[in-house]
Amino acid sequence: SPMSSEKDAALAAVPSDSPTIFDKIINKEIPANIVYEDDKVLAFRDVAPQAPTHILLIPKVRDGLTGLSKAEERHCEILGRLLYTAKVVAKQEGLEEGFRIVINDGPNGCQSVYHIHVHLLGGRQMNWPPG
Ligand code: C5P
Repeated sequence: SPMSSEKDAALAAVPSDSPTIFDKIINKEIPANIVYEDDKVLAFRDVAPQAPTHILLIPKVRDGLTGLSKAEERHCEILGRLLYTAKVVAKQEGLEEGFRIVINDGPNGCQSVYHIHVHLLGGRQMNWPPG
């Protein structure tokens, strides 16, 4: 049956090292609205946007980084590059009034895709605390 919400999708997702849908996006096997690409990072619009601008930034090579909780010292460079690229894309998107960066991790964090990704959200007033 169809997932009723992103939270349901996240709670149904089993953390694993298996390839994810993001590999198909990286390999251009399925279409995505790509807004930025370089040799290390791919950024594309989320298919279920939670704000006027909602972009996901991912490493092209996962290298064990299914989620932030799996980060090792060797991932420091790509982690920094993902955040720096989020800033570049925020500027490209005209988010001069601000934006939010989110990394969901694991079931409690509502992670649904086990290939690390940074959410870039903007274009409206965000609230705090998050849901
Ligand atoms: O942080 P989380 O794992 O929940 O985020 C995964 C995100 O990937 C969701 O926001 C979902 O809408 C998005 N997604 C996508 N394209 C897909 C599959 C998932 O943009 N083909």
